[in-house]
Amino acid sequence: MLKIDVPSLFIAMTLNLAIISVTLPYFMGRVNRAARCAQAGIILQTAGWLSLIASSAFPQGGWADHLLSTLAMACVSSGMVFNAMAFQLWCGRDASVRLPAAIAVVMTAGYGIGFSDYAFRVGWANGLLALQIATVVVTLCRPPRLAVGRWRWLLVICLSVQMAVLACRAVLGAFYTDEFPNFFGPYLVNQIFALSSNSMLVLSMAAILLAHRDEAARDLERLATIDGLTGVLNRRAWLKQASADLANSVRYRQPIGVLLLDLDHFKQINDLHGHALGDRALQLFAAGLRAVSRAGDTCCRYGGEEFCVLLNGANCAAIMAYDARLREWLAQHSQPALGFALSYSAGVDMPIHDSDSIDILLQRADVALYRAKAQGRGCTLVTRSDLALM
Ligand code: GH3
Ligand code: MG
Ligand code: MG
Repeated sequence: MLKIDVPSLFIAMTLNLAIISVTLPYFMGRVNRAARCAQAGIILQTAGWLSLIASSAFPQGGWADHLLSTLAMACVSSGMVFNAMAFQLWCGRDASVRLPAAIAVVMTAGYGIGFSDYAFRVGWANGLLALQIATVVVTLCRPPRLAVGRWRWLLVICLSVQMAVLACRAVLGAFYTDEFPNFFGPYLVNQIFALSSNSMLVLSMAAILLAHRDEAARDLERLATIDGLTGVLNRRAWLKQASADLANSVRYRQPIGVLLLDLDHFKQINDLHGHALGDRALQLFAAGLRAVSRAGDTCCRYGGEEFCVLLNGANCAAIMAYDARLREWLAQHSQPALGFALSYSAGVDMPIHDSDSIDILLQRADVALYRAKAQGRGCTLVTRSDLALM
């Protein structure tokens, strides 16, 4: 008959955990905070299991068993705290894990103090570990702030299985102590625990890697929308956003406008001060756009030394006020930061017909911008005189 050998299963699982905790940080390379938390969680879980296995090599109830078992509880429960932190971050929330952390502290302290009472310590540790996992499951079930993949439900399943087995162990250890006298013994609950821990480890790893992949994909998506030099949106992302905003404002009869800006004599700036300072000028200009923008204003680098702002809910006067704020900001900041004054010309346009697309607005704003250049630069013109009354 097939025998399920509990100690071997736990040793195999600990070995797998140890291999994962050593290799994963290396092969994942540079990762962000959530993945680092997950890695720390795995390392702590490994340390916990190693301590637990080591504790069984010493006389039961002795000081070494006491110390190593308490250390094991501290590591396993704080490992879960780090995992919870990673899950929170992956769901787009801040890494607040007060409840699981408090349970980890209380559980470890109680376990250390009440170690000599076997029924108490088994009931206490398993019960509180189950409770800690329950808090993590509840947080995972809350709607995430970001669109996350199905890995969340895979984790919920893994954690729920672990929680159920731990809860059974807590009840058996505390109230049916004779049937459950030690952790590595060949008892059904130990066998179920050892088997489920092994399979849940594999599934949890898959979930963690899927969560990490989700996040990496999101980061890439975000990077693909941002201009690398200035940090504002790039043209493609801006056009997508601007088309949606324009359609909304037509639908809800809200004013909207575009401001197309082009730095004056920028080629000369590059020629006189060098390309690096030219780059810094572009960054400063983008910082100025961000500084004077309000909720509803979306700016982008349209290309080269041209920028573009979409102003939601703004009439022509509001757009000209934005322009004035930007000129004032540049007058204050460009000389100290660059050593020369940065000036620009701009064109403003707003929709005339409901069917006006963002491309049409940009084309007309470009005509106004061209006129501003022709008039001697350093000014902002609107496309039509009647706009100023809107
Ligand atoms: P105008 O006042 O008529 O707009 O003149 P201008 O010199 O600003 O316009 P022009 O189109 O002749 O030159 C734009 C310059 O912007 C040329 C190009 O080298 C520079 N430029 C475009 N992108 C970058 C960039 O990323 N970094 C730097 N340093 N320069 C850039
Ligand atoms: Mg230009
Ligand atoms: Mg220019």
